[in-house]
Amino acid sequence: MFPAIEIRQVHKRFGNVQALRGIDLSIQQGEFFALLGPNGAGKSTLINILAGLALADSGYLKVLGHDVRANYREARRSIGVVPQELVYDAFFTVREMLQFQSGYFNLRDNSAWIDELLESLGLADKADVYVRSLSGGMKRRVLVAQALVHKPPVIVLDEPTAGVDVELRQSLWAFIRRLNREGHTIVLTTHYLEEAETLCSRIAMLKQGEIVALDTTANLLNRYAAIQVSIRLNPPRLPESLQPLLCGQDGEVFRFSLKHHAELEDVLRTLRMEEIRVVELDVSKPDLEDVFLRLVRS
Ligand code: ADP
Repeated sequence: MFPAIEIRQVHKRFGNVQALRGIDLSIQQGEFFALLGPNGAGKSTLINILAGLALADSGYLKVLGHDVRANYREARRSIGVVPQELVYDAFFTVREMLQFQSGYFNLRDNSAWIDELLESLGLADKADVYVRSLSGGMKRRVLVAQALVHKPPVIVLDEPTAGVDVELRQSLWAFIRRLNREGHTIVLTTHYLEEAETLCSRIAMLKQGEIVALDTTANLLNRYAAIQVSIRLNPPRLPESLQPLLCGQDGEVFRFSLKHHAELEDVLRTLRMEEIRVVELDVSKPDLEDVFLRLVRS
């Protein structure tokens, strides 16, 4: 079985900006994968090359075994990319636009799938409305429908929920999850780390054109995330030896950032020895935001 996406040693430079510095990445069929990174990390560049909208300087990319350059047509048929911006013809209705897009893939009778897309994306009552007269949120739905018109086995969503209302976000994810259950491979980039954490089973983090972390979501959380602990102390003073662990103070409440739960044991022992009482204690679950900040700052 071919990987859904195979990327080997991909480099891309724009003038003197090295946007991608030797990306290696394999995504298996059926995965729900997140590509994360701060602005300028190279995510869009990588997606554009994958979609055949830009060329890599070196290395290769394959979609279901089809080289995006040498087998452009097959690769293009296998992937659907939801871009950030909608490019549309002002004189098309939603349905006409989807029919036109189907023609591009030589799909003559695609009405059943188009109807299903319109229904699932809450666009059914907008089918005969001009795209230009739709609201921003509705236009984004059209963008998703357009990328999925040829029912691609591999679906890439570039920041699909940026600036999108909660209702659309939820219905969009319900639909994408369904497609994933039915066997489609999903790759997404998002600024909403919570989204990546709940949806994706594996994550690559990109920084300055390089992959700095690649693992299952669970492993990343275990390995990099800090445990945030808030302790109210009486008397409200902190022994010298605990100062390095302190990341903030709010009156009598001291906030610590710990790597392991075992470290909490050490903190409590030190406080006991100094006869400082723990009045209140709150431990918060590590999250992806924390992993992300650590990797980006380091
Ligand atoms: P991201 O999607 O992670 O925010 P991009 O792939 O858009 O990152 O950008 C990666 C780097 O490449 C950035 O430094 C950006 O300024 C640069 N870049 C991207 N596209 C172009 C372009 N068409 N011309 C010049 N520089 C570009």
